[in-house]
Amino acid sequence: MTELPSSSNIEKVNTGTAEFEELVSDDRLTSDAATTKQSATINAFTHSSQLEDSTGVPAVRRKRKWWLRINWMLLLPTILWIIGWYLYTYPGVAWEESFRRWWNPKPQSFGYSWSSPQRELIRTIQYLTTFWFFYLGASIGSFFNVVAGRWPVGKGIVFGGSKCPYCANRLRFIHNTPIIGWLWCKGRCAFCHLPIATRYLWMEVAIGSIFTLLMFRELITGGANLPHWRLDSFVGFENIVFSPKWVLITAYLQHSVLFATLVMLISSSTSGLRFPWSGWFIFVICISCPKLIELRIEFVRWTDGLPIQQSFPIPHFSAASTVLAGLLIGGLVGTVTAKLLPPRVESHSRTHWCQAAWMLGAVLGWQAVVAISVSAWLLTYLMWLPFRRHVRAFSIVALATLLVVGVVHHMFWREIVSMIGL
Ligand SMILES: [Zn+2]
Repeated sequence: MTELPSSSNIEKVNTGTAEFEELVSDDRLTSDAATTKQSATINAFTHSSQLEDSTGVPAVRRKRKWWLRINWMLLLPTILWIIGWYLYTYPGVAWEESFRRWWNPKPQSFGYSWSSPQRELIRTIQYLTTFWFFYLGASIGSFFNVVAGRWPVGKGIVFGGSKCPYCANRLRFIHNTPIIGWLWCKGRCAFCHLPIATRYLWMEVAIGSIFTLLMFRELITGGANLPHWRLDSFVGFENIVFSPKWVLITAYLQHSVLFATLVMLISSSTSGLRFPWSGWFIFVICISCPKLIELRIEFVRWTDGLPIQQSFPIPHFSAASTVLAGLLIGGLVGTVTAKLLPPRVESHSRTHWCQAAWMLGAVLGWQAVVAISVSAWLLTYLMWLPFRRHVRAFSIVALATLLVVGVVHHMFWREIVSMIGL
């Protein structure tokens, strides 16, 4: 790599026009050298193992230590997952027993008792089912990631496989697998080694966690958080998942997808994109439909809490009016609280706040959306006040507050409703 200093070029100009040709070629040489150097820098950044030395000749691939060649990002979670299974299955039985004795010292007899291998098998199935629900959420998160990135810029969602945004290589199946794909490639494209946005990982983990949390609180407890829901003693994985109670499963999926949509709106905000109202409309239709078809998942009616008694000739009208009231009040409260958010919240995030409030209203009813939006708005303002001189952007914090308040409200929905006396 020969790079002439510019002072020698100036000297050549001074020596005469005969050397003009040489100067031009030198210039070209210099720019070529610069290009080579630039590409070498990119190579060094992307393929650290194939570093080129200053002569431009590829260096012999250096043999790395064996522990550096292992993908710890993938192996560590796998080891932790296996340890978790072991602890839950074997010592877990004894831990649960001692916890039960501490919680309720009276001895309980169920009339039957499982043998040790049976209990271990049951706990293994429970562990795997929990993981299955987490992974179901992560897969939906993976799809919502695509939606969050493509819909606002007007790209198709269903057609056209996933491609790397830098090198346009079509991704393989393993690269597309939720969470595992990101860890497999250590957060870089498998072909060009440029970094992939971390939102692909955290969004899948977040939505997976929402599905797991709601599974524990809403599904296997037999709907313990649902207001006006008749509880019975047939709870647990075996009574709800393996001999399916479809009403409860529908409610669980509807609520999980609702909160997953809120995560998607946050993801669009982190990319600085505005989620389009057309996309929002399709989501609202899809997410409200179960309520109009299965009437038992209408947990709070729009007349609850109001001094009105309304009886509809067709029960489906009641469900439709609850959805409409939720949309109306949700839109109103969402618009007002979005306008009143701290000034550091960007305009596209205000739109997302409004869209989220509207969806919460459609699914959970107007009573819930008023409680959630107003308390989330208040909390956002309280968090913003101490930092108002230092913080430049507050969009993600505002939307995340709305999500967290929504999830916490959902965890204690039944208690809140019975406390207020709706
Ligand atoms: Zn690539």
